[in-house]
Amino acid sequence: MCSDVRKIESTTMLFSGCKPGWTVFTLFLLSMAVMLSAGAQAATVDDVRMWAGPESTRLVFDISDPVEHSVFMLRSPNRVVIDLKNARLRQAPRGLDFSKSVVSKLRSARRNHNDLRMVLDLKSKVRPKSFLLKPTKQYGHRLVIDLSDTRVKSVPRVARDSINSSKGAPRDVIIAIDAGHGGDDPGASGPRGTREKHVVLAIARQLERLIKKEPGMRPVMIRTGDYYLGLRKRMQKAREMRADLFISIHADAFRNERASGSSVYVLSQNGATSEAAQWLAKSENNADLIGGVSLDDKDDLLRSVLLDLSQNATIAASLDVGSSVLRELGGIGKLHKKRVEQAGFAVLKSPDIPSILVETGYISNKREERKLRDKAYQRKLAVAIRNGVRRYFAQNAPPGTRLAMGGQKHVIRRGETLSGIAQRYRVTQVALRNVNSLSNNRLKIGQVLRIPVL
Ligand SMILES: [Zn+2]
Repeated sequence: MCSDVRKIESTTMLFSGCKPGWTVFTLFLLSMAVMLSAGAQAATVDDVRMWAGPESTRLVFDISDPVEHSVFMLRSPNRVVIDLKNARLRQAPRGLDFSKSVVSKLRSARRNHNDLRMVLDLKSKVRPKSFLLKPTKQYGHRLVIDLSDTRVKSVPRVARDSINSSKGAPRDVIIAIDAGHGGDDPGASGPRGTREKHVVLAIARQLERLIKKEPGMRPVMIRTGDYYLGLRKRMQKAREMRADLFISIHADAFRNERASGSSVYVLSQNGATSEAAQWLAKSENNADLIGGVSLDDKDDLLRSVLLDLSQNATIAASLDVGSSVLRELGGIGKLHKKRVEQAGFAVLKSPDIPSILVETGYISNKREERKLRDKAYQRKLAVAIRNGVRRYFAQNAPPGTRLAMGGQKHVIRRGETLSGIAQRYRVTQVALRNVNSLSNNRLKIGQVLRIPVL
């Protein structure tokens, strides 16, 4: 509303230099009318929803109309103040669980007769960010408040450890597992109301468990609970964790409820291979409309031009992993398409990390919805993805990883010991003895040892 008024005022100023009298007057009346109507109709805050992630908490206020608002932080004690012009709370928000969030309490009060002030009492300092969202399929107007925890550095300990220990020692292949959607973005829904965000997180967790057991591999989870992460943020996390592969897990929906089967997508060089792929890319990317557009990304344009160069090589690698995973998925159920499809998915745009998007099935199909809810079937899907990934890396282990070292030969030189070699290749002495059928730790110069993957 305020921006309308501002527009009229600036138009007035523009016109007043060249057009006399009536134009200015009419515009004056118009702006009065806008201000009066604004006074008459208070926006209501109908509901408050909240999702707490490990690095930030998101509050979504469902509002009847767009509101003029301001958000700021106050210290001692730490709190965030949200002022809404000409608005009121329909009812005290209920059922908010603050236990895992940075917020400890939400209070509200009336201000200047017509305005609403809401105060979030905090457990620690945050960086608040706010934006308005227009109505979508599921929701009406919303005011979104993101509170990022200023204490959390987004590089997790696993990544730091692996960076610190990477002085020539072989490292694990890192698999970033990205469960699509989350929080206020539920993704697709099934006829029985199954939400994509829940199903894909369950499959992602199964895959995490399996990858943990793989010698030479380490999983990292991009989303660990029911909260939203922007698509750029997902890629950024994968990069911070130094991922060798990014797997985004989804469940499809289509207007035709008979559509069924799994598909695997990788990024397209230019344009999608099929119209359905294009349609899907649009609906998956729409998640970021829900997440809001962040200004932090604007400087990426120049970078993306430079990085285009490495993108093509990455797409080729993605196609290889994708085909390997698709082959495995074909072994457990129906495939929607026999080939890896290519589309403009934003989340696959890391120019240097091979990335695939697995649509595990059609949640919009009654039969597949039932399967996708089933724990045993979720595990089957995870096993298929793991097998595909395992086969790919058996042939394409990145240099410097234990997988690349595994199967390597080492020729013993003077002064070398079993413990020294174990340390160098980051394997245990027991494993070295087993794989080379050694009964003790004695080595001979010139002896050839096979290095196991551990
Ligand atoms: Zn999805």
